[in-house]
Amino acid sequence: MSGRLEGKRTVVTGGGRGIGLAIVERFLEEGATVVTCGRGTRPEALPEAVAYERVDVSDSAAVTAFAKRAERQLGGIDVLANNAGISIEKTVNDSSDADWDALMGVNAKGVFLCCRAFMPIMISGGGGSIVNTGSISGRVADASMALYNASKAFVHGLTRAIAADHGHEGIRCNAVAPGWIMTEMADVAFELASDPAAAKADALRRHPVGRFGKGSDIAAMVSWLASDDAGFATGQVYVVDGGLTAASPLQPGFF
Ligand code: NDP
Repeated sequence: MSGRLEGKRTVVTGGGRGIGLAIVERFLEEGATVVTCGRGTRPEALPEAVAYERVDVSDSAAVTAFAKRAERQLGGIDVLANNAGISIEKTVNDSSDADWDALMGVNAKGVFLCCRAFMPIMISGGGGSIVNTGSISGRVADASMALYNASKAFVHGLTRAIAADHGHEGIRCNAVAPGWIMTEMADVAFELASDPAAAKADALRRHPVGRFGKGSDIAAMVSWLASDDAGFATGQVYVVDGGLTAASPLQPGFF
């Protein structure tokens, strides 16, 4: 590994499993020090070198306290990777007020709260890089995921706003929009299909690279955006989806 993040003090939200864990592992390999968080107790899979905090990112007071603790622990913050997210598979007509509060609370408000809490710390240290986890669902609508789709479009919009407003203070802000990455979240989504095996086979056929994504595919892009190599990249949404949304939506089996 190149040690592209040597000496960088990083915070990754939701780093205990799935894509977040892959980001944490990649950051460590690249030489960063890492603090992460989740709602549960410390996940066993988390490498020992990583500090873990029990924090719900949708809770404003908890996020403010988390930022203060992380700053003390790391001596400053250079990188914030907002990865924590949840999904609810419902249309607008099926979604309750509680669904709105839960989903937007984590995916939209949680990203806002973390950016607002961590950015002043980054600015006081001369700046840094924020990498938000958006989704291809923020660009094209996945069926029956109305609030999730909208929450990721919010993340893409907030990313551009932060880049535009805080660039002069040394902040770069980008989003990564993953496609289908095989984690617990993707498993749950396929299980909801009327024929999960057929849905999975069809989805696979639509990937020009011939496979679904892995957490490490996303971690590679996040670590580049976090690093100084990406010093001229800001305000953008980087799609990492194996070509899924580059292809025409026509049924591939007919051609
Ligand atoms: P997982 O469900 O596997 O992991 C989600 C992580 O977020 C967990 O570590 C979880 O920890 C944490 N988390 C959830 N809610 C909160 C909260 N309120 N406060 C703090 N931490 C929280 O999801 P993925 O790894 O699949 O997804 C990671 C990100 O990537 C999400 O933003 C998701 O929307 C996005 N994404 C995923 C895709 C996929 O195909 N998997 C595709 C596109 C985007 P805990 O449960 O302990 O709180």
